[in-house]
Amino acid sequence: MMQEKIQAYLQRNGFERFAPKVVLFDMDGVLYDSMPNHAVAWQRSMQSFGLKMTAHDAYATEGARGVDTIRALVKAQTGRDIDEAEAQRMYDVKAAEFAALPKAPVMPGVRDVMRLLRKNGLRVGVVTGSGQRPLIRRIADDFQEWTDMDDIVTAYDVKQGKPAPDPYLKGLEKAGRLMPWEGIVVENAPLGVRAGVAARILTLAVNSGPLPDEALAGAGADCVFSDMFALRDALNAWFNE
Ligand code: CA
Repeated sequence: MMQEKIQAYLQRNGFERFAPKVVLFDMDGVLYDSMPNHAVAWQRSMQSFGLKMTAHDAYATEGARGVDTIRALVKAQTGRDIDEAEAQRMYDVKAAEFAALPKAPVMPGVRDVMRLLRKNGLRVGVVTGSGQRPLIRRIADDFQEWTDMDDIVTAYDVKQGKPAPDPYLKGLEKAGRLMPWEGIVVENAPLGVRAGVAARILTLAVNSGPLPDEALAGAGADCVFSDMFALRDALNAWFNE
């Protein structure tokens, strides 16, 4: 199944070959089952500023830079344009709410995917729109066999967050100035999928949240998987073709 999707991907982008060297993982909802906590932290923090953010809003805007989400929310609900610094101060409140919640677990199966990639000579990178420094530091611990801080792109590395292609282009650059056909993106959210597709990288979605699969396919995902184990099995079958 992967092979067909790869052919369609190559044709769509006018590329001649697909030779992946790195897999770029999103963080929230991919490395960690952290979205339920984020939804709670968003609701509580925005409420403290008199703004309404629902759990659905949290999932629908997931993957964007937090400050961008806040600026859009303030504009929509108060008509006010706020600057990056003010949005950052509000985001710090959201980050504090998130940090006060129990640690989000590592996504079941994601280490199996990394093990398989390593066995087949691929590297692991991380590309997140998050600016949650403690969580970013945790990646280097939880996934130290496969990645380190130098391989992680965060909100602080790019001006334009997802759905712009910039974060994933930065990920390719960090991985050794690779071409789009030398990478694979693993995402769970529509905005992140759009970013991977805009960067012209093969984009695999794992639907770990409450949105329908169509939300990810509609955003342009080359394949949609129900969980990390399904992704692992599909990659394994492809490596063995
Ligand atoms: Ca995500």
